[in-house]
Amino acid sequence: MSIKNLGVDDIPIAGGKAANLGELTGAGFDVPPGFVLTTESYDYFMEHNDLTGVLESTMKDLDVNSDAALQEASHTIRTAFEKGTIPKDLEVEIVEEYKKLGKGKYPLVAVRSSATAEDLPTASFAGQQDTYLNVSEPKSLLICVKKCWSSLYTPRAISYRASKDFDHSKVKLAVVVQRMINSEQSGIMFTIDPNSELPHIIIEAGYGLGEALVGGKVTPDTYVVDKFHRKILNKRISNQSWKLVRGESGECVRCDVPVDKAKGQKLTDEQILELAEIGNRIEMHYDRPMDIEWAMEGGEMYVVQARPITTVSVGNDSKGSKEEDNKMESSRTILVKGLGASPGTAGGVVRIYNEGMSLDIVKQGDVLVTQMTTPDMVPAMTRAAAIVTDEGGMTCHAAIVARELGIPCVVGATDATTSLKEGMEVTVHGQMGVVYEGVEKNEEKPAAVAVATSVSVPVTATKIMLNVGVPQKATEYADLPVQGVGLMRIEFLFTSYVQEHPCALIEQGREDELVNKLAQGIGIVGKAFFPRPVILRTSDFKTNEYHDMKGGAKYEPKEQNPMIGWRGCSRYVTDSYRAAFVAELKAIKKARDEMGLKNVWVMLPFVRTVDEVKKIEKMMNEVGLYRSRDFKLYLMAEVPAIIFMAEEFAEVCDGFSIGSNDLTQLTMGADRDSDILGKMGYFDERNDAIKRAIGHLIKHAHKKGVPVGICGQGPSVYPEFAEFLVREGIDSISLNPDTVVKSISNIAAAEQRLLLEAVRSQKR
Ligand code: PEP
Ligand code: MG
Repeated sequence: MSIKNLGVDDIPIAGGKAANLGELTGAGFDVPPGFVLTTESYDYFMEHNDLTGVLESTMKDLDVNSDAALQEASHTIRTAFEKGTIPKDLEVEIVEEYKKLGKGKYPLVAVRSSATAEDLPTASFAGQQDTYLNVSEPKSLLICVKKCWSSLYTPRAISYRASKDFDHSKVKLAVVVQRMINSEQSGIMFTIDPNSELPHIIIEAGYGLGEALVGGKVTPDTYVVDKFHRKILNKRISNQSWKLVRGESGECVRCDVPVDKAKGQKLTDEQILELAEIGNRIEMHYDRPMDIEWAMEGGEMYVVQARPITTVSVGNDSKGSKEEDNKMESSRTILVKGLGASPGTAGGVVRIYNEGMSLDIVKQGDVLVTQMTTPDMVPAMTRAAAIVTDEGGMTCHAAIVARELGIPCVVGATDATTSLKEGMEVTVHGQMGVVYEGVEKNEEKPAAVAVATSVSVPVTATKIMLNVGVPQKATEYADLPVQGVGLMRIEFLFTSYVQEHPCALIEQGREDELVNKLAQGIGIVGKAFFPRPVILRTSDFKTNEYHDMKGGAKYEPKEQNPMIGWRGCSRYVTDSYRAAFVAELKAIKKARDEMGLKNVWVMLPFVRTVDEVKKIEKMMNEVGLYRSRDFKLYLMAEVPAIIFMAEEFAEVCDGFSIGSNDLTQLTMGADRDSDILGKMGYFDERNDAIKRAIGHLIKHAHKKGVPVGICGQGPSVYPEFAEFLVREGIDSISLNPDTVVKSISNIAAAEQRLLLEAVRSQKR
């Protein structure tokens, strides 16, 4: 059967290699012409020579861990295959198809195995079976076909299948016979950087036939191309002193590369970009990152193989890093385990902090170990190399602040404050959620800004915003490729600049001081991002957190459940807190009017009723803040009430921002700070109930022409959640600084997929 009649659906009969080549031919890519002997031919040959019996008796009770046994079994089976005869009618068909490739003459062909379990997304069987090059006449072609079939039973292939739990009898072999490309240049291409998972196309190119390069015998040039901007980012030119070429009678021979060419660039910039474009199109066609082999002959670029990349995981972690993690786990003593809440690895001296102690005990580079962090601990947290807490879930205070600071954090570690001892040297692994004994040498920091500024990112239709906490970090983060700040939590200004309860300051006649300090912090962030909008969220401390601020005890009631207590908007409309909220508004007004920062807008947290929003807008008007083209009022969608009443709330605001941390907590009835529920999986933004709530909000807000964004940490943590949001039509996504670059690529890819699906469904 001709390759061009195949597609990916034919993997079961044509094997991955042939089916993919057929798919590519059908999609208009230049693939060397050829034909395939499907698994039907394999079965026919097996039957004709009664090979099933040989197979069964040899494989039965085979000890796959014994090298000698593997060798012997392989020899027995392969000999039986190669001594077999191809049925006459099949032989005639093969020779006929072969002749067609040479337009009457016998052409040089490659005979390539195409196993039905090869080139599948989950398990790369690459290189497990044989390939024969430069086959030049019918007799050797038929011998090579049999050798290909028998190569399904090399010792290596048998043990590989055993290790992956593939049933031997289910794996069959198709064979591709394809016109040889006499390549002047050849190589491979990855449509994603398999190490960093950045949106780069990595091309390796060398002179001559690809076998030397694929087999690692020569060092190729490496080019890195920015996938979205079609720009060459980096070139590493190798010194290739020899290459493989086709000899007189078709065999591969080694020949020297002239000195001046050896050190030269193997492909021109134009060719690099042309190849990258092919890579991009192939990835678009398959809708996933691909590993491609290519060859160039007479200036024509051919695709000789393409398969999905199997080493890039869909989630946040690459397979490589997981393997590293496992290696690390087995070689180190784990002291405590919890939830990995902020990635990175860092070591230092343990400082156990208990309530009432001076925060000064935490010195630069220490590992802060405490029951749970509170907002007043932020100054000490900024000095810590890593944070470990007994309590807390993925969105607790420690987790949020650590992510913002770019330091590793493990939460919900149960007894860290007792298991770890003051002064101990430890390493915190924030991804895996473990603390090891001793200080790890190769620390890995999530260097958000360093990555972001050296990398170009795709433009997305979804607005990309940033979650900013500590104002001191704003100038650094302003270099990130974002369109503004989607969430600036004012609590960080209280902990960094004010450090006292606002009501205490007001009662002492120090309102101006309060306003000035808040305005100073707002100014730093507003200026750093100017003219991009900075959405400042007014205070959302809970009573227990306010209570712990200097002078707070007098103003804060003791609540049983502060998380669902007197927080957010409900405070602003209460007489006992109103003045403190007005001070926040005055600080915003000051930043906008006196500092000229018209990019500072307002967002209200923990909104429960339309009525309170109306009252708050009135208070804003009273200090001179009016909603307009350059002053927007956003509402956080955290309490399910706002979801159900989306259209009513849409009448009183300029936009919604989903607080998925609280929305998950309240929809699932799962305390976000509960390590128990977190570990049991109850607190998970990807739950269908939350997704349905979000879909409902977007639909109804859009009906009223009001945009919806998200600032909870869900899309920063789960790429598939970000994709879900894109599919639902979210307008903006606000991300944690450490995940901006990677998330933008995910979001862009999701948008492309969506577009492609729309185009395809239109064509149907
Ligand atoms: C949220 O609830 O998702 C949110 C962003 O607010 P916070 O985490 O500060 O409660
Ligand atoms: Mg919230």
